Amino acid sequence: MTTVYLKQKKEESIKRFHPWVFSGAIGRILLDAKHKENAPFEGELVAVRSAEDEPLGVGHWQVGSIAVRILAFGVNKLPDDFWNERIRAAYQVRQSIGLIRPDNNTFRLIHGEGDFLPGLIVDVYADTAVVQAHSIGMHLCRNYIARALVTEIPQIQNVYYKSDDTLPFKAQIEGEKTGWLLDDEASRSRDFEEFWSTENGLQFRIDWLRGQKTGFFIDQRENRALVERYAKNKDVLNMFCYTGGFSLYALRGGAKTVDSVDVSQKAIDLVNVNVARNFPRAKNHTAVAADAFEYLTAQKAANRTYDLIILDPPAFAKHRDAIRNALRGYQRINAKAIEMIRPGGILFTFSCSQAIDKEAFRLAVFSAAAQVGRKVRILHQLHQPQDHPINIYHPEGEYLKGLVLYVE
Ligand code: SAH
Repeated sequence: MTTVYLKQKKEESIKRFHPWVFSGAIGRILLDAKHKENAPFEGELVAVRSAEDEPLGVGHWQVGSIAVRILAFGVNKLPDDFWNERIRAAYQVRQSIGLIRPDNNTFRLIHGEGDFLPGLIVDVYADTAVVQAHSIGMHLCRNYIARALVTEIPQIQNVYYKSDDTLPFKAQIEGEKTGWLLDDEASRSRDFEEFWSTENGLQFRIDWLRGQKTGFFIDQRENRALVERYAKNKDVLNMFCYTGGFSLYALRGGAKTVDSVDVSQKAIDLVNVNVARNFPRAKNHTAVAADAFEYLTAQKAANRTYDLIILDPPAFAKHRDAIRNALRGYQRINAKAIEMIRPGGILFTFSCSQAIDKEAFRLAVFSAAAQVGRKVRILHQLHQPQDHPINIYHPEGEYLKGLVLYVE
């Protein structure tokens, strides 16, 4: 195996379980015999050792300022049952925090660094795991991961790989970036019309083939449950509804009416399927395919108001240099929503832009309230749920933030 030796005194952070080796910390590299070029190849498993030759760990080599992402600390090779052991451990965490139940078979199993598997995301929907690789190293390991998933997790029968949007786009990539792993006939011929995944007793059709991300936003589960608590007898607007997660919880919570809005007609079709499945007799739900700004402007002109509005837009800032525009976008959409809330109403507002921190987001929302002359108070500060754990050395893993405001 190729060995990466760190410079003197650069081993401290790795000894404290920080998962990354930066290129500047590397002293020299001893390539193994299979190399023709004079650098490790992207995704290669390398051993990391201190200048004094102590074993520090094994990880995936990467081109860029983060040179190695450590998978296992303090060893000089990956243990034989590494993938099984790591996946079993992640599953045990979900079990011990009460997420695996007859009425809940939808959860994130692996949240990258937060589950000590940098570069890997695994979401579980009933009998199917959807795997996303964010690094070439994980891409190269996809079949080991798939096998460990079906061996270790009783509910998983199929593994779908969906990494076309997440792998580094400059890298040369061998093999398919999407498709069923383990190549079994049953998975390939499965019928989406008959597929349901259960979250807190509500059933969702999840289309990972054509849907966004892995097909569903598991990260809003606990926040959706909070909407259920506040929905009774309220007129609710679920803006940026996607598959209608918040709408279903609001309906179960006894909302008077629920309007679901998303710019994507495909999303609206899914919302209607999900509402019909869970509330076949509901007459108080409406789903509209429309742009958020246009919808809110038109409803305002028609003097429409709501008791509870949910705003869960896509990431407005995908990169650091887009922050200013994104904050302006958050302020604009929040102002439009706050204007339409009846006195004594509630706003659930979110940002999933990792580049925008909690303080900046708050300021944008408060500025929006000030702009439209409404007094607001914070009832809850929300974040990502317990199956999206944050590695203490990787604060970037914390991305979802939300505010629940009481609007006078
Ligand atoms: N709240 C959802 C997730 C929202 S994801 C849930 O709980 O599952 C963001 C959604 O915003 C996507 O479905 C996307 O289609 C929609 N969207 C993006 N731009 C939009 C716009 N300008 N107007 C309305 N919806 C938009």
